[in-house]
Amino acid sequence: MPISTEQNQHIVLDVDRTTFNTDLYLREIIRSIACFLSQSDEAIEAKLEDYCHSLTDSTQFSLDDFIDYLINNLFPKTVKTNDLEENDPNGIKQDLLYFIQSWLIEEPKLIFPDALVILKELRQLGFRIIFWSQGETTHQEWKLSFFQRDGSHELALIAPDKLANDVIECIPPGAVVVDDKLPVLEQLATIRSDLQPVWLDRLNGDGQNCPSHIHHITDLNQLMTLLEVY
Ligand SMILES: [Mg+2]
Repeated sequence: MPISTEQNQHIVLDVDRTTFNTDLYLREIIRSIACFLSQSDEAIEAKLEDYCHSLTDSTQFSLDDFIDYLINNLFPKTVKTNDLEENDPNGIKQDLLYFIQSWLIEEPKLIFPDALVILKELRQLGFRIIFWSQGETTHQEWKLSFFQRDGSHELALIAPDKLANDVIECIPPGAVVVDDKLPVLEQLATIRSDLQPVWLDRLNGDGQNCPSHIHHITDLNQLMTLLEVY
């Protein structure tokens, strides 16, 4: 069933694994660090896993913290405290962060190709886009900066828990909300029945486990069909 839309309709888009290719992003971070430090990808991936296990929640992930963790682990003798900026005479951290940023700028597919297409079309059609993202603010804002290379600037709701009441109440009435996690949308729908949830099932499922009050798509291009703009 199509979604009824109004003028200036708000479209709320999740970031990680909905519009932003988080798995490719993490892979490229690992590759860039491995290249910079002349280590194997596997060695850096193992450090990343160790770091993630040290977090109580994956949403605490911060690239800056991970670099601290990595340098402290790889160079324990030269760096004696966590305060690397003061104690790292070689400026490894800043050089490494700059190297990672330069590396990622060369990767054109960090934003999913279908997301790039629909973002452009939604803007042209007058829809209002809001990014809705969970995680450490600086890190999530950095991911969003990849969407702004063409000069566009969308509103963003970023929080450690994006389902927190004070975050959810910021979503405009009747908005269409797209997310790759069905449980997120199910919970959202119990709190905000006025919203129009859309599950982006990038694994190409048949949607049989999708409740009838949630729309099911396997590709963001299908959102445009749902919105009846084609
Ligand atoms: Mg997601």
